[in-house]
Amino acid sequence: MEEKTLFTKIIEREVPANIVYEDEQCIAFHDIHPVAPIHVLLVPKQPIPSIAAASEDDQAVLGYLFAQVSQLVKQLGCEDAFRVVINNGAGAGQTVFHLHLHIIAGRALQWPPG
Ligand code: 5GP
Repeated sequence: MEEKTLFTKIIEREVPANIVYEDEQCIAFHDIHPVAPIHVLLVPKQPIPSIAAASEDDQAVLGYLFAQVSQLVKQLGCEDAFRVVINNGAGAGQTVFHLHLHIIAGRALQWPPG
């Protein structure tokens, strides 16, 4: 059996997290090392390792996640200014190989990002 990812352990309540939203397809919780006043991770329950590893079979869940962003940012009160980030690969800063969207807000966000 594949080793459970950290985020699957959070989904299964083996690892605690400050959960802000959950349904049958996804979960959202505060990042343990926030880079902004609002830093929430939105994670599909299906453990797709990365966006590069996603396939056509994952289309529905990927669409669902992006549709959830608009609900979540309203809940978080940051719908006017936020950033959605997906790091792909260690060279781009990915450290947890279970697909997740970072939702970052609550401070001025520079462009281009570092
Ligand atoms: P990545 O670097 O893969 O794009 O993002 C992984 C994120 O998970 C990081 O921002 C990191 O701070 C966060 N993280 C790592 N371990 C934990 C944890 O145990 N709990 C929570 N809530 N976030 C975590």
